[in-house]
Amino acid sequence: MPDVAELDGGPGGAVAVIVMRPEPAGGVGGVLLCQSILWGLAAVCRLWGGERLCQLPRNSGWTPTGASGSGRRTGFRGTGSAFAKNPGIGPTWPWLGTGSCYMLAKITLGRNHMNNHLRKITIVGGGTAGWMTALILDMVLSRTSAPKDRPRLCLIESPNIATVGVGEATVPRMPRTIREAGISERDFFRETNASFKLGVKFCNWNRDPRGKRIDYVNPFAHGQMLYGLEAAEYFLRFGNGDRDFTQSIAPHDDLARLCKGARQLGQPEFEQRFGYAYHLDAVKFAAMLTRVCTKRGVQHIRDEVKAIELDEQGNVSHLMLERAGRHDIEMVIDCTGFRGLIINQTLGEPFRDYADYLPNDRAMALQIEHPDPDKIESVTRSTALGAGWTWRVPLYNRVGTGYVFSSAHRTDDQAADEYLEWLGASGKGKTPRVIPMRIGRVRNAWVRNCVAIGLAGGFIEPLESTAIHMIDHAVRWFAEHLPTRDIAPSLRTRYNRLVNKLYDEVLDFICLHYRLGNRTDDPYWIDARTAMKLPDGLAENLELWQHRLPMWYDVEFATLFNARVYQTVLLGKQVYDTGYGVGIRDRLRPLKKPVWFQGMKAAKADLVQILKTMPDHKTLLRDIRGELDQPAFGRAAAIKPTVALPGALPEPVVIQNMPNFAEIRSGTKDLQLF
Ligand SMILES: Cc1cc2nc3c(=O)[nH]c(=O)nc-3n(C[C@H](O)[C@H](O)[C@H](O)COP(=O)(O)OP(=O)(O)OC[C@H]3O[C@@H](n4cnc5c(N)ncnc54)[C@H](O)[C@@H]3O)c2cc1C
Repeated sequence: MPDVAELDGGPGGAVAVIVMRPEPAGGVGGVLLCQSILWGLAAVCRLWGGERLCQLPRNSGWTPTGASGSGRRTGFRGTGSAFAKNPGIGPTWPWLGTGSCYMLAKITLGRNHMNNHLRKITIVGGGTAGWMTALILDMVLSRTSAPKDRPRLCLIESPNIATVGVGEATVPRMPRTIREAGISERDFFRETNASFKLGVKFCNWNRDPRGKRIDYVNPFAHGQMLYGLEAAEYFLRFGNGDRDFTQSIAPHDDLARLCKGARQLGQPEFEQRFGYAYHLDAVKFAAMLTRVCTKRGVQHIRDEVKAIELDEQGNVSHLMLERAGRHDIEMVIDCTGFRGLIINQTLGEPFRDYADYLPNDRAMALQIEHPDPDKIESVTRSTALGAGWTWRVPLYNRVGTGYVFSSAHRTDDQAADEYLEWLGASGKGKTPRVIPMRIGRVRNAWVRNCVAIGLAGGFIEPLESTAIHMIDHAVRWFAEHLPTRDIAPSLRTRYNRLVNKLYDEVLDFICLHYRLGNRTDDPYWIDARTAMKLPDGLAENLELWQHRLPMWYDVEFATLFNARVYQTVLLGKQVYDTGYGVGIRDRLRPLKKPVWFQGMKAAKADLVQILKTMPDHKTLLRDIRGELDQPAFGRAAAIKPTVALPGALPEPVVIQNMPNFAEIRSGTKDLQLF
């Protein structure tokens, strides 16, 4: 009888049965078979050629395998009598014998048995993680390897277990990935009801010195350097009237408030005048990726994994599918969501809970109508409520909303009341869907021949919409560390280190928002600030940043949250006016005031032009989707960016005319959201 262990399948109730069985023929067995044939053929060669050609002279100095030291010595690596007579010829016949054995074995067994390349990668799970894994692996591998050397991709998805169905805000990596994958932006916008996202607007997370709520945008743009010094330093020293820091350095806040799009009508696909990302419908996105990937040859199996078999080394050897039965595995990617069917439930990799760092462990979600379908805000909103925060993600055709909260501070019913009150008329009569969240990560995402990607590998609450970005990185890193079938441990170790560093990066940045919050109106906010642990690196930086602003070298690993993004949050929250880093202004380097205000004058002038010429968001989306009577999509020449894209060096700003801020300000009062 095999050793059978039954495990609880988590929320979906799936049961994983682990069966320890010997390595089947085809793996080690196949290698042994190949080896015996080679040795058999080699023996024939020896018998035939050995007498006449492979006889060695006595005391030749060569020690053959298993040679007794006297008499005839034979072997494949040695010198024969022909060589002894004529050293220039070399051991021709034995080598020919070996070569023909090799060729014969190669023809008989097929070339894949002669190299050790992965022949198949199986992805389990058909949510965003599963399909992004298929898309990116297919994209990278098809560029880097010939079809015959490439592992086949196969995705197994349960028809009975739904995807998490949220995850609709992204970061600027997404447009790059969509473009790189050869998907047209028009198809993408049409199929996923996507819209543009210029950043995240944080509302009511902090109060200013007068107790008034602070709303600020963390834009997909960076501050500029003025004469080699950070704009943030000048801003901290001199301010900029009633403009906050991000309004001073980028037009994103103004564009979003006026429901403007991210680029001009008619600009080519993926053109980035301003740094942007997308909002998308998660379910439709997975459907689009299914279409694209299956067309490109990814095998799609709609079936449920009911049991998992491990071999004697503890590698996953087979999946038992409900309908199709046994499915053999070389390398498996676990994308089964929070249940972590393979990585946790089967391989038992421990989960590192982040409950000590982050307070929120539950969410509830509702989709609502646009209050005004012509006004689509081009940012994600994150609004602080009593025991957490709400998201508002405006798509083309609807708005995704949700409340992320702490079960230690609110029951589901209390949270639902608070959430529905926030939604007002839009939430009337609706019942939110509750989503328990497993916050943290597995100790190692790659264990034996299984890599966990997406929620199966871990999740940090969605405050900065980072999960899809992390999936994207994880898949690319896996492609860069693609193993052969014997999986070199160093590949696994380095991959795990990179993934864990990415978790640290995101954890630090999310903790920052809570630690530097200053609300006192609910015990939740006080606990979030004082009772939670801080990761060591962030603790050290927060100590330092009381004395100077973040510098690029303070943040060593930054796929997304570099020091300038930290500056934006510190200045956005106005922490230097509300008790953090008291006296920092006096310790700043001496700066020339006119330099800063000339720069600000130029930026304002630029902003006036930008706001005049940028189309409204809805019109831009309709143009891209091909719904305008006179489409401009794809016709205009590229316009040079005036605002730095994330990671790019900023262009100098050109003064065009004096700003008229009354003009800009008129009609810019906050949107009527619900
Ligand atoms: C409240 C909330 C808000 C979020 N917001 C954002 C956001 O704004 N931005 C962002 O980037 N990310 C966000 N995320 C994260 C994002 O939703 C996920 O990272 C993303 O959807 C990937 O999920 P997944 O594919 O790993 O899991 P899932 O969507 O849960 O998919 C799991 C898949 O596994 C399959 N499966 C499970 N068991 C079996 C089995 N036995 N056999 C076969 N198949 C099986 C299921 O059928 C399903 O297809 C959010 C997450 C939450 C919880």
